[in-house]
Amino acid sequence: MKLSLENLQSLVRCMVCNKKHRPAKMVVLEEDEKRTALHLSCDGCGASSLVFLSLGQLGVMSLGVPTDLEQAEARALYQGDPVSLDDVLEVHEFLKGHTGDISALF
Ligand SMILES: [Zn+2]
Repeated sequence: MKLSLENLQSLVRCMVCNKKHRPAKMVVLEEDEKRTALHLSCDGCGASSLVFLSLGQLGVMSLGVPTDLEQAEARALYQGDPVSLDDVLEVHEFLKGHTGDISALF
């Protein structure tokens, strides 16, 4: 969901102290046609939160959760390759077929 920083700013407040956010304190983590995920760090109270905005029939809904993640950590989390189901199955099959001592693998 493409929103200008001004729009984001008017939608997003600190969950803890209710202070409005300045664009510099927000980073967009993920964005598609209907959803946007943001990381905020409040310069009022220092709290960080993740905010998910989604476009629904009633307009833009926002959901915020407090987080311990720093901006850079949150960004890394979103940009890292998610583990796919295939990877999980592959490891599972491998371990199933392995009869020796698991610690010998490492
Ligand atoms: Zn705050």
